[in-house]
Amino acid sequence: LSERLSGVFDKLTKQGALTEADVSTALREVRVALLDADVALPVARGFIDRVREKATGAAVVKSVTPGQMVVKIVHDELIATLAGDGQGQGLKVDSPPAPVLMVGLQGSGKTTTTAKLAKRLKERDGKRVLMASLDTRRPAAMEQLAVLGRQCGVDTLPIVPGQDAVAIAKRARQQAMLGGYDVVMLDTAGRMHVDDELMAEVAAVRDATQPHETLLVVDSLTGQDAVNVAQNFNERVGVSGVVLTRMDGDGRGGAALSMRAVTGRPIKFVGTGEKLDGLEEFHPERVAGRILGMGDIVSLVEKAQEQIEAAEAERMMKRFQKGRFDMNDLRSQLEQMQKLGGMQGVMGMMPGMGKMQKQLEESGFDDRVVKRQIAIIQSMTKKERANPDLMQASRKKRVAAGAGMEVQDVNRLLKMHRQMADMMKKMGKMGKKGLMRGGLG
Ligand code: GDP
Ligand code: MG
Repeated sequence: LSERLSGVFDKLTKQGALTEADVSTALREVRVALLDADVALPVARGFIDRVREKATGAAVVKSVTPGQMVVKIVHDELIATLAGDGQGQGLKVDSPPAPVLMVGLQGSGKTTTTAKLAKRLKERDGKRVLMASLDTRRPAAMEQLAVLGRQCGVDTLPIVPGQDAVAIAKRARQQAMLGGYDVVMLDTAGRMHVDDELMAEVAAVRDATQPHETLLVVDSLTGQDAVNVAQNFNERVGVSGVVLTRMDGDGRGGAALSMRAVTGRPIKFVGTGEKLDGLEEFHPERVAGRILGMGDIVSLVEKAQEQIEAAEAERMMKRFQKGRFDMNDLRSQLEQMQKLGGMQGVMGMMPGMGKMQKQLEESGFDDRVVKRQIAIIQSMTKKERANPDLMQASRKKRVAAGAGMEVQDVNRLLKMHRQMADMMKKMGKMGKKGLMRGGLG
């Protein structure tokens, strides 16, 4: 695949902004990569449509091809999708005894994961955990959980023959309450395929126990069926998170994207082995790299981006030394901040600027503000950008209108520029030596 890709990308060497054709060509290859990684077809399609919109018109970093640029954009979007809002990591098990319901198909790894999680809760969080098997169809399944419980020193609910899943679940809660447990983990029976009886049983257990977490356990090797499984469990039972098992295998883990897209719920953990310590937190970057399988291209683009940023930092440094800092410089700073997700442009590397950054942050200087300020600068003429003193009241009004903002926003930006320019001048006088700090010389 890699060879075929570089072939395609070699043809696309034009610089500038990504055209629709650039994007389409590269996305065809990305689509193949996603399907190879077992991302469910409709999910792959939806994802690619979303990226298409974002990528078309995006700037191409110097010294990489448009195709490579698209892959980088895909990669970033993949991480963003997998990570979601970054909320929902870990388990909500605060008010004891917190019921945690484990659901999924047979053989997906529910029983193993139940024990892994119980072990983790006990060892890392110091929780007292009780596990109960609701798998009444296979007596061996109950025994399996009891064995795992002994292995990791976690109690299991004593087996009482003849009880149905709901009765066992109620008994487990009762026992957990009486025994002062913090968490009660309910390991349900699975089926080979989604069926009504299974869903009805799991839903009845849910109603009887009001779980704080309902974790859908899915084999990461599940391919196209993943959508069906996730949809059914999410609609009929409602899941709060996903655990992907067998990530230690050869699979590329496309199910992660499918699960995330279909349930909208966070992937909380991944299973990485048969042993009870084979459980890890979910790392979107790692899984994204694996799904896309184009890590070389991604790191190439990153390196190119870094080089450009370093060159830009150096250029700005030289200007500052001469005491120059116009609106274009300010804009470049703002864009750096935006990219880095915080107040750390070239400024962050210079002495004396830390305090100003702090002030800005404290005055509610966030991403949206940065975006608006860039819009204001864009509405100024070239002359005004080089020399902001040219801005008269009427022009301020015009520029504010052009950027969809108030005159006071423009004034605030001009004031900020003035403060920064003053500071640059002062520092310029300090001389080259005093300015440089770490890595930029
Ligand atoms: P259940 O039917 O959903 O309860 O599935 P089990 O927990 O009984 O697991 C089925 C098989 O998958 C067992 O042989 C487990 O050891 C194995 N298994 C579960 N999770 C993992 C994992 O993360 N990696 C590997 N390699 N095997 C796993
Ligand atoms: Mg089981």
